[in-house]
Amino acid sequence: MAPSRERSIFNGSTSDSPTPDLASRLHVERKEGDYASYATTKVDLPSGALFARITTATPTKKSWSSVQVGEDSHIELNSELVFINHSCDPNLVFDMAKFEVRVHEGKELKKGDNITFFYPSSEWNMAQPFECSCGSEKCLGTIKGAGQIEEEVIRRFWLNEHIVKMLDARKTKNGTNGHANGHAN
Ligand SMILES: [Zn+2]
Repeated sequence: MAPSRERSIFNGSTSDSPTPDLASRLHVERKEGDYASYATTKVDLPSGALFARITTATPTKKSWSSVQVGEDSHIELNSELVFINHSCDPNLVFDMAKFEVRVHEGKELKKGDNITFFYPSSEWNMAQPFECSCGSEKCLGTIKGAGQIEEEVIRRFWLNEHIVKMLDARKTKNGTNGHANGHAN
């Protein structure tokens, strides 16, 4: 395995486009109860566009609100980005190598849309698994993290580099099949 590359989490992005003002783009709909709050977009954006940069992250231990950035590293977002919920058919990606939040390829944002990302795209083994209610045809049900999802299912999603590496390592360990449940097809 290659040695892990140390990088500052405070200047992870190399792109020169200006950092969007989050307050002008993200609206939080605050609701009573755990996970009831959600975020919507205040702007229209095309596929692949930069929605936000993650500029306020600090290292942390894994928790319900942390985001995984490497095999053993997690950050706290320290911003309203934490209100962006999970969906199995998301319209955003959280790119934790670039510290960018972008519109998912093939999706576009329209003002007022609920904004979501696919939590297992960054999380290997979540601190708090939950029952997904995204309503998508692609819904995976209980979301525990990428490590709990079968190879051929998880590979359909956009994934962070550290998750791809961890899946490759799991596949090597499990043999060429790589199915978590041992099915052959
Ligand atoms: Zn779902």
